[in-house]
Amino acid sequence: MKNFKFFTILFLFLMGCSQRSLYSQTQILMGTYVEVISDNKEAIDLAFSEIKRIESLLSKYNPQSEISLLNKQAKAKVSPETFFIIKKAKEFYEATQGAFDITVGALLKVWGFDTHNYRKPMQEEITETLKLVGLDKVLLDEENRIVEFKKIGMIIDLGAIAKGYAVDCAIKRLKEKKIRNALINAGGDIYCLGEKFNRPWQVGIKDPYKKIIRKVIKLKDKAVATSGDYENYFLEDNKIYSHIFNPKTGFPVDSKISSITIVADDCLTADALATALFVLGIEKSESLLKRYNARIEDVVFKEDKKNG
Ligand code: ADP
Ligand code: MG
Repeated sequence: MKNFKFFTILFLFLMGCSQRSLYSQTQILMGTYVEVISDNKEAIDLAFSEIKRIESLLSKYNPQSEISLLNKQAKAKVSPETFFIIKKAKEFYEATQGAFDITVGALLKVWGFDTHNYRKPMQEEITETLKLVGLDKVLLDEENRIVEFKKIGMIIDLGAIAKGYAVDCAIKRLKEKKIRNALINAGGDIYCLGEKFNRPWQVGIKDPYKKIIRKVIKLKDKAVATSGDYENYFLEDNKIYSHIFNPKTGFPVDSKISSITIVADDCLTADALATALFVLGIEKSESLLKRYNARIEDVVFKEDKKNG
């Protein structure tokens, strides 16, 4: 996605009378398509400028970002936003007994996911790399907002939560400006603010295997996010190696799940839990979902592909 030329489209849906207009725009940001829809034209620029600001702090691919500097120096003073997201990530790390771990960056690198030059490393290489994985090896100095790695070479990768967080930040900006209705979709990480023409927003969940919508859900002031292994993976010896890693083994998760969709009160939580439950499996999800007031909206199992 990063090589895609920046483009922008402005849709204006005139629905008969002026109160029934919806403004919509799509841009490529955070490595994906980001779409903003609202009945208030101001929402478009506000949302995109906030998402761009968050992207410039958190992107691993922007050498100037705070995350890039931190990954390079192993120690950095960061903005409140960057500190907040790392702290939240640590909370999910602890709540999932380490299944959700943003220090998988070194693993993604050794498996070639950062450059798309995929390769299956030797076991010794994976064992060595695992020494650079573990959020318990990241020190957070809250007072000074300093983040420090205990080991040089550790890499933080916010791919599992940054989009959700950026959506939340943009929604916050809209609310500050008293914008009541909007939908922001960052590559399937979605927040539905208010309503669309006095009815809840409707979001379709796509089937990863068949070209159909599995289900349409109605949301108001809620977030929804999906994680799966069908979009970013490589095949070797007839086996799928996807971009979601088991931080304990150093291997891509060999899950029974193909995709999982979570509904939560904010988009960061939906995003993080979707990735976390992809790693953990749904058997262990109950207490986690309860703690975060979230629910599994849909799951597609690999078995479904064979049966479908
Ligand atoms: P997508 O980014 O495709 O919407 P996810 O939200 O599930 O999908 O995020 C997957 C990304 O999260 C990976 O590309 C990687 O950057 C990161 N990641 C991989 N494994 C883990 C893990 N166990 N914990 C936290 N982040 C992970
Ligand atoms: Mg996620």
